[in-house]
Amino acid sequence: MLSRSGHQSESASAALSRVPLDHRPLWAKAAIGANTFDFETATVLPTIYERTTAAALAHDAVNLGQGFPDREGPDWLLAAAAEAITDPQVGPPNQYAPGLGLPVLREAVAEDHRRRYDVTLDPAEQVMITTGATEGITAAILAFAEPGSEVLTFEPHYDSYGACTALAGAELKGVPLRAPDFRPDVDALEAAVTDRTSLILINTPHNPTGTVFSPEELRRVVDIARRHGLRIMCDEVYEHLVFDDAAHRHRTILSVPGAQEVAVAVGSAGKSFSLTGWKVGWITGSTELLNKVRGVKQFLSFSSGPAYQWAIAQGLRDDHGFFAANAAALAAGRDLLREGLREAGLRPNRAEAGYFVVADIAEVTELSGPQFCEVLTREVGVAAIPVAALTIQHRASTDDELQRLVRFAFCKEPRTIEEAMRRLRERLPAALG
Ligand code: PMP
Ligand code: GLN
Repeated sequence: MLSRSGHQSESASAALSRVPLDHRPLWAKAAIGANTFDFETATVLPTIYERTTAAALAHDAVNLGQGFPDREGPDWLLAAAAEAITDPQVGPPNQYAPGLGLPVLREAVAEDHRRRYDVTLDPAEQVMITTGATEGITAAILAFAEPGSEVLTFEPHYDSYGACTALAGAELKGVPLRAPDFRPDVDALEAAVTDRTSLILINTPHNPTGTVFSPEELRRVVDIARRHGLRIMCDEVYEHLVFDDAAHRHRTILSVPGAQEVAVAVGSAGKSFSLTGWKVGWITGSTELLNKVRGVKQFLSFSSGPAYQWAIAQGLRDDHGFFAANAAALAAGRDLLREGLREAGLRPNRAEAGYFVVADIAEVTELSGPQFCEVLTREVGVAAIPVAALTIQHRASTDDELQRLVRFAFCKEPRTIEEAMRRLRERLPAALG
């Protein structure tokens, strides 16, 4: 019920908060699933990433929260996109791209899979270009999570998994990743399978822990899915950001024998090329599974940005050494950040890939992760993400250990990380009193 001012009256908000999850409107289900529902006002909050960036701006804090690089992607790729937009002799028309994406990019993704993973994909039917990985994840979950079923993932997990699972009318169940190594407990995953389970969501390399699943771990997840008749969505957006000292090289799940019958994989040019704003992603898998995903995807965005797609195709074909240089720069950022966090008394993990470390705050404070992040932004001038926001909060069983973890991004220039660490060193003890 709306009041004259357009705001929901208190009684309506309270009433909505009491409605069982199953009977709430979709907008509220999505928000509850992603921890962005404000139960007091029954309104939707921005994502944890946007809230953290806004708080960083408001308090002039160094933003180690939202995962975006503070240096642009490679100049030659920016120039390729600009040329593609303005020179019709070079790029595609600035009109709708095909629903599956530009053929040149589908071919480049297939070629990258062949070269990197020895996986053969038919670019005409087994590669689909999406508006960021986000759209691929959404389409796969809506396509494969059966209404009334359960969806399994390792916790903490990317926020959109919760929202999309709720939109599909399914329930997300988490299996915690445990400190200090955050390796996936595949036995616990199998123990969580019930006769209602329809889908497994995995993310390797993993946000926020940086864990790269081993070939054996991937093989076992595929085996579980095959034996129990489940599908898998494997989020591989950090595939090109694995560090030299990782215990395992990343392999797409599609390289596991038998995986293509049950799994689709999602990739992101934004992450691969430090161009998160371009929102070009892809989803790969068998003709049969991708056809089902298409059923949803073509009514989400239909298609997007042909010039960006064209430019990314050039980048995938020849990265000019960018992937190796970027991974090395990220690994150096990780080391700088870990050193600073350790000096401040926190216990950061050693991410093998991606943009983030997670740090245990238990030794320096009794505050919860979310409370600590508030103090950190306001009084220390450093913004970070409470891992609690990446867990399933509307269920009572939320894991305590995960509530004490805080995620810090190292996809930033060394001077940005150094400034954040200086602030931690100088201000954290007083801020924690
Ligand atoms: N999955 C994970 C694990 C992520 O960290 C992100 C953030 N980049 C996404 C998906 C979304 O990717 P994109 O920006 O390409 O939509
Ligand atoms: N993937 C980014 C992160 O984990 C954020 C993406 C977003 O803001 N939606 O920080």
